[in-house]
Amino acid sequence: MSDFKNKNILVIGGSRGIGAAIVKRFASEGAAVKFTYAASVDAAKTLADKTGAEAIHSDATDLQALVQTVRDAGPVDVLVVNAGVVMFGDPLELDAAEVERMIDLNIKAPYFAAVEAARTMPDGGRILVIGSVNADRVPFTGLAAYGMTKSALQGMARGLARDFGHRSITVNIIQPGPTDTDMNPADGPMTELMHSVMALKQHGTADEVAGLAAYLASKEARGITGAMHTIDGGFGA
Ligand code: NDP
Repeated sequence: MSDFKNKNILVIGGSRGIGAAIVKRFASEGAAVKFTYAASVDAAKTLADKTGAEAIHSDATDLQALVQTVRDAGPVDVLVVNAGVVMFGDPLELDAAEVERMIDLNIKAPYFAAVEAARTMPDGGRILVIGSVNADRVPFTGLAAYGMTKSALQGMARGLARDFGHRSITVNIIQPGPTDTDMNPADGPMTELMHSVMALKQHGTADEVAGLAAYLASKEARGITGAMHTIDGGFGA
């Protein structure tokens, strides 16, 4: 029997890519899923129609709106914070306002969403954040700011795991490597370079990441917390 039947699950950033695969996975296992989106109105509507999940328009860089969205959706049994952006470029040239925006989305949004969800989350709940293997390994130039945002999640997870552990709430980070989505298409211009540092010369799929999310949210994973779970084809090996 599925662990997720009638569980309330909220995915922050679920309209496309890894987030959409997570929405589909939990919805297919009988969960009541809500997901947020910012720009992809059509994709969000199509996904909601297909899965029965509820699409909520909420830009996660607006931290007040994000907290209100999490409050309104609660109490949630499982929170997944997936929304994120990547910026490549010479740090001497990157637009500072864009870097700030990435910090808001990749660091501040997961923290404030997790804290807000935990206020009403039942004992035994699950908090999952999609980080990146770039938290552990940055083998190319131009990724310092992105790597910084994903590394920050590690300290957050370790700390929140201890803060909420007495309620049996687990807090984990999933760290994908190259995964075939709009952000990082398997046929994109960076593929050869990325595969050159991987043990497996292939992109992962969003469904594979969703499978790991489902495991970490399951009853079987109740003893796993404050930990990073890398699924990267050996990018970090
Ligand atoms: P995509 O760009 O394909 O999808 C991003 C998702 O996040 C979309 O649903 C998008 O919704 C949502 N999102 C983006 N900005 C916001 C916002 N301001 N508010 C709400 N939702 C938002 O990315 P991926 O699926 O590839 O990436 C998902 C996560 O995985 C990210 O955190 C990324 O850093 C991480 N990751 C991805 C890797 C990869 O190779 N693909 C590798 C390592 C980590 P909308 O379009 O509606 O705004």
